[in-house]
Amino acid sequence: MQLNGNMATDDNMLTIGGIRADKLIAAYGSPLYVIDQADFEDRAQAFKQYFVSEKFKTHVIYASKAFSNVYISELAKAAGLHIDVVSGGELYTVLKAGYDPSQVYFHGNNKTPHELAYALDQGIGTIIVDNDYEYQLISDLAKERKMLARVLLRVNPGIEADTHKYIQTTKEDSKFGMSTTDPRTMAFIQAMAQDPAIDFAGVHCHIGSQVMKAGFFYEEAQAMIAFAKQVESQCQIDLQEVNLGGGFGVYYTDKDQPLNLAEFLPAYIKEIEQAMVANDFSCDIISIEPGRSMINDSGSTLYTLGAIKHPQMGLPFAFIDGGMSDNLRPALYQAEYEAAIANRINEPADQAFRVAGKCCETGDILIQEIKLANPQPGDILVVPRTGAYTFAMASNYNRIEKPAVVFVKDGQSKVAVKRETYADMTRNDCSIKD
Ligand SMILES: *Cc1c(COP(=O)(O)O)cnc(C)c1O
Repeated sequence: MQLNGNMATDDNMLTIGGIRADKLIAAYGSPLYVIDQADFEDRAQAFKQYFVSEKFKTHVIYASKAFSNVYISELAKAAGLHIDVVSGGELYTVLKAGYDPSQVYFHGNNKTPHELAYALDQGIGTIIVDNDYEYQLISDLAKERKMLARVLLRVNPGIEADTHKYIQTTKEDSKFGMSTTDPRTMAFIQAMAQDPAIDFAGVHCHIGSQVMKAGFFYEEAQAMIAFAKQVESQCQIDLQEVNLGGGFGVYYTDKDQPLNLAEFLPAYIKEIEQAMVANDFSCDIISIEPGRSMINDSGSTLYTLGAIKHPQMGLPFAFIDGGMSDNLRPALYQAEYEAAIANRINEPADQAFRVAGKCCETGDILIQEIKLANPQPGDILVVPRTGAYTFAMASNYNRIEKPAVVFVKDGQSKVAVKRETYADMTRNDCSIKD
């Protein structure tokens, strides 16, 4: 397992942010989501530092769906990031964290009238429109409120990034946004631009997730800027913003060669600047929306091992006290992870195991095959790089309580989300006797 961020070892024990894994489990229970706070803060600053231009302002927007709670929203705010949300619940969370509503972008392919009204009433900065029906809702709600709603339109430039098909989003038949090649798109923009309740600010696109090749982002930037120019000339309007979305790939296993931000982001800026010159286009703001690449590396999950089971055939199982309830990704789309025995971190990992969860699903296998150092019941298994789309997708399947989230930094730890209790899980249950 590759150590990352502020991981180290102390006498054969893994430490994160200066705290031993066994101390974290003893203090907060198991399983446990652990977030390396300094690692997140460093990455937020790297995005801010490297995604800059002298030609336009840049917004680095944290896609909070990757890992949403009040604590991380407070950190994102302190780091000077904008933030995006995809539901009323995520919006509520960032507002509760004290986000200035003008810094919030609201996404989603089917925002409800209730969510849109909530967003407008809270003075949300920008709504990304997905379709004509949604635009009508926003326009009517804004008129009722005598407000001007700032919107971007989500479009698909038809770039097929080579990622898993569930996380690929801009093919021509994608459920998200409108195609740049659809003749109705330009007429739709024209209508929005002429609507007195709408401040049509620009276009948005997000080409998918876990994209490793910089070339796809360059292609996207060129296509989007060419399209933005076309919008300006055909609709006789000035666009303020082009939002290029997120999707920057990260390391999970040695199959992944992630983008190096210090190299990629300045190169990306250069591509954008060149595309602007080539298309004779300019605008005030260019935005990006990193989610996974902002938080994934900072998160680890600690589990306690139960039985080590040797079936008649196949690999032996190492059973963990969690599974698809705290990390759905392997069951959902065959995501892969590394792992190690945290309390024997320096010992050679030389025997192959299958790491299985405790949920009642055959598909609840966290890792299909991984070499571990002589795992025993009671050992701590660390699965690194679980910051994104794990806690965010957690469920109470089998009525398993969601683990606590603890932030660690410089030898200090702080609970960001308390562990659920059995009582929490039945809080909204009503009795036949009620
Ligand atoms: C999910 C999403 C993101 C973030 O994607 P990552 O792969 O986590 O970087 C950004 N923008 C939009 C519109 C999204 O839906």
